[in-house]
Amino acid sequence: MERGWKMGRNRCIIPMLFPRSGRGKAAAAALLMLLAAGGWFLFHRPAAVKVSPALRAASEGLNDYEITLRLLPEEQALAISETVRFRNGTGETLDSLVLRLWLNAFQKEETSPAALDALYDACYPSGFSQGGVTLYDVRWNDAQMKYSLEGEDGTVLRIEIPSLPAGEEGTLFLRCVARIPSCAYRTGTVDGQYQLGNVIPLLSCYTDGAWRTDAYHPIGDPFLSECANFRLTLDVPQEYTPACSAYLTRGKNGLWQGELPAARDIALVLYKNPAVAMGSVGETKVYSYAAAEAEAKQALAYARKALQAFSDLYGNYPYPVYSVCSAAFPFSGMEYPALSMIGREYYAKGQEDSLELIVAHETAHQWFYALVGSDQALSPWQDEALCEYAMLRYVRRQYGQSSYETLKYLRVEAAVMESVPGGLTPGTPISDFSDLDDYHAVVYDRGAALLLALDEFLPGGADGFLRAYVQRFSFHMASRADFDAFLNAYAGLDAGPLLLDYLDTKMD
Ligand SMILES: [Zn+2]
Repeated sequence: MERGWKMGRNRCIIPMLFPRSGRGKAAAAALLMLLAAGGWFLFHRPAAVKVSPALRAASEGLNDYEITLRLLPEEQALAISETVRFRNGTGETLDSLVLRLWLNAFQKEETSPAALDALYDACYPSGFSQGGVTLYDVRWNDAQMKYSLEGEDGTVLRIEIPSLPAGEEGTLFLRCVARIPSCAYRTGTVDGQYQLGNVIPLLSCYTDGAWRTDAYHPIGDPFLSECANFRLTLDVPQEYTPACSAYLTRGKNGLWQGELPAARDIALVLYKNPAVAMGSVGETKVYSYAAAEAEAKQALAYARKALQAFSDLYGNYPYPVYSVCSAAFPFSGMEYPALSMIGREYYAKGQEDSLELIVAHETAHQWFYALVGSDQALSPWQDEALCEYAMLRYVRRQYGQSSYETLKYLRVEAAVMESVPGGLTPGTPISDFSDLDDYHAVVYDRGAALLLALDEFLPGGADGFLRAYVQRFSFHMASRADFDAFLNAYAGLDAGPLLLDYLDTKMD
């Protein structure tokens, strides 16, 4: 997630390339009839989408989540029931499971990530609003279990379970109600629109003999989770249109249902009367949700171009759907698997090139975060700097070398010259940052300088390396050590000093 982009770039001339249907008069007549019947949205939703063999193969052996969500608009809440078939793939015997209830950080101002001084007024225009999770049922293999909420922000749900040896499995069941705060954030409701990122309880990552319990730091994205298979049933009043990481269809009973295999999270936005534009890239359906039709089409055009560009550069996008969702928050964007939230102010007239770059950056996260997971709390550069670099490559592909050079200068080279307080480097964990602008300049922009250096240094350029990296680590987590070791093996030499120089050396 990031705050608004720094402006001052030269303006690109961007042709408007809207998708055209070209299906002839019969199709147009059928569409008109459906429009007349109010069936536009259903017409644009085929009953099912194809899940590629590669995605099916990646889903084998992963944990399975079966989730039912019911929106309770009067209570501004979401009733959640969740069944997780958990396979102990940690290699160790476990006597507890840890899930993250990120929403609990919104219980009080002291821990809410939206209450950071620089964000407070924009996130809470009507004053503080409480969010949080009330648990009603926690069962393991049908038996009630003891649990505790840990961490200052109460986001760590630790469930004691009978000893579970490595390789064994069991079933966890949770029932809870998530109260959604009135908050312009990745989790919150604004003007009847629900932005539901990081609401669904997910298992944390287990590394180095312990469950990760990172706090909800207000700068950066502290979320870590392994890929899993999701099945979702969604019950919302008829006036809501859901955008979701999973491809949802509405059954005759009025319930929306869908699945998302091999993904590390699942997010939704619930809209009232959005404008929806739809297109495709290869087998992938691309949806764009915004306040007005022209805005939805504009973002769709950018999303399609970005998805195509990064599929060509870094390997195919594997999910059946990609949704780009206008969101009410004071950020440029926020990434989730198969779904990006984009700050709605960037849909305004005159903001087209900012919107395009934001959509490109967020779409790049589908490769660097969603496909290749990394430690977003301790090594935030590992997705942010890579996405910033990928965005530059997108610009070069779309607008040529001179636009690329200009943007590279404005974003990366200028950031390298900027002075930043303290000993902050791109390799610094998010918990050490207290200023959003410093975070952006150091982790995104200075971090991207590493990729530019690798581009000079590697015979196949940085793109060749990143393509191999995505192929090697797709659907897995790549630690900083994995990145270093993979780079050394790829380059056939010790890149350690270069990484140390770009990621860990303080600049004066
Ligand atoms: Zn990002």
